[in-house]
Order: sequence, then structure tokens, then C-alpha cells
Amino acid sequence: MRLFCSNHQLSTPPSQVPLSAAPARESTALRAPLLEVFASIQGEGLFVGQPQVFVRFAGCPLRCLWCDTPHSWTLPGLEDSREQTLSDFGRSSTWHTASEIAELVEAADPGGQRPLSLTGGEPLLWPAVIRSLRPLLPRRRLHLETAGAFPASLSRVLASLDHISCDLKPPGDLAPPVPLGGPQDFESAPSNTGEWRACRRAVLALISGRDAALKLVLRSGFEPALIRELLEDQARLAGDLPLFLQPVTATRGARAPSASEIEAVTEMALKLGLEPRIVPQIHPVLGLR
Ligand code: SF4
Repeated sequence: MRLFCSNHQLSTPPSQVPLSAAPARESTALRAPLLEVFASIQGEGLFVGQPQVFVRFAGCPLRCLWCDTPHSWTLPGLEDSREQTLSDFGRSSTWHTASEIAELVEAADPGGQRPLSLTGGEPLLWPAVIRSLRPLLPRRRLHLETAGAFPASLSRVLASLDHISCDLKPPGDLAPPVPLGGPQDFESAPSNTGEWRACRRAVLALISGRDAALKLVLRSGFEPALIRELLEDQARLAGDLPLFLQPVTATRGARAPSASEIEAVTEMALKLGLEPRIVPQIHPVLGLR
């Protein structure tokens, strides 16, 4: 299968992208580390309940308190590019080309047309691979799940995507990012409130008017003022998009919000003219992956 090389063009005017967010180099970006490829049911957001195929990329510099995939954070060594079948994937990741990923997707859903959900980790660390996947999987919808922290990389893949599910991250839920190292210059992760604000606003401007949805994970004890700023940004820049309020699935780092906390955020969103929908993850209920 032929690999398609990406170019260096941004599909968005540079004025909409934070100056600190330099695009990743393309020349070393045509492999990406995968943790797993599998067919399952979408467990959250706009397409909850829909059968999909999932490609879980490794690598994430962010540190959400309630992260349910901390095993996705680190990158494998560059030498680790073993050939893998679907059953070989475990808790370690290995590097794959876009054509190998496309073959794994077809193996997970033979002859099927489930939408492909690109998840992680943070898939936007690998924009060149995502762009290369598009022509290799022409009949599948491509959905992206992203933290909403990488506007320059997002602008490079927008034309390849059929749907974007983007998080609104409350600053109080984030520990400082951890640099990834690895083979390429990744787009810088926001590391303070001001940088998060700039990235969030750039991302909201990029996805407004598109097939996209926003997700805000709510934990017990959130700071209302921080949540309000996120919602005000959405109302101003992407008020057309649905907003999914997702009570956190309790983890070591976070407890689920109370009914009154959920109601308070719902009211806040409604007063700003947003269309909130309260949808918890269904994986724990159904015992799904
Ligand atoms: S962005 Fe996703 S993978 Fe990264 S720490 Fe947050 S929840 Fe985990």
C-alpha cells in the first residue's frame, strides 16, 4: 500500500493559531505509536452507543487528574516497530505506518464501515499519519477525540476529518504537562492558564460550524468560576456546537459530581444559550472496553 506524504501547509490562517504552536516536522512523522486497535461501542459524547473501530495512539503530555488511560502517556523506543496483529496489542505500544494502521482497522472490522475513532493518548501528536489515513480508508468516517490543546496540529487535519469531539479542560483538573521527547518536534502543550486560554479559543474558532461536539468532564469540587470561563468561551466562539457534560467516572484522582453540582453547570450553560446534554460514560455500565 502506498504512503501519501503530507505537505507543510496550514489549512487555517496563521492569525488563528497561537504563535508558540509551531507545526510538527513532517519528515519524521509518518509513523505513530499505537496501543491498540479494536472494534467496540462508542462510550461517550455525540455518538454514544454507536459501533465504531478505535485506534488508540500512544503519547500524551497532558496530565488530567481523572485520566482513564495513563498507560497511554509515554512513547515507545523508536526501535520498537514490531509487526503486530490485533491480538498482539497489550499495554505497550509500537510504531506503525499509516498503511499498517489502515490494515489493522480493516482487520478489526472486516468489510465493515464502522466509523473510525482516533483516540489516545492525544491523536493530534500525529497529524501527518492522520492525514495519510484519510485516502487509505476512503469509505469510513474519521472521528477525532482530542483534548483541545493543539490548534496548529488540528488545523492540519481538519480537512481529513468527518467529526471532532473536543474536550473543554478545566484548568483545575490539570497537572503540569510532561514533555514527551521522542523523534519529532511536537506542538507545545499549554502549561499555564493563559496558554490554555489561547489554545482553547483557537480550537473553538477552528471547529465552530463543523461536524463537532464539545465535552466537559465534571468532577466533584470543581471551581464554578473556571467552568464559567470555559462555557463563556464556547458561547462566544462555538455556540452552535452541542455540549456534553460528562460526570467523571470515579477514579483515584476524582469523584463524581453531586446532582446539585451537575444542575448548577447545566443552568450556567443554559443561561449562556448553550445546549447542554448530560451523558455519563456507558463503558462501565456495559462492561465494555
Ligand atoms: S488528554 Fe486524555 S490521555 Fe491525556 S491525560 Fe488527559 S485524559 Fe489522559
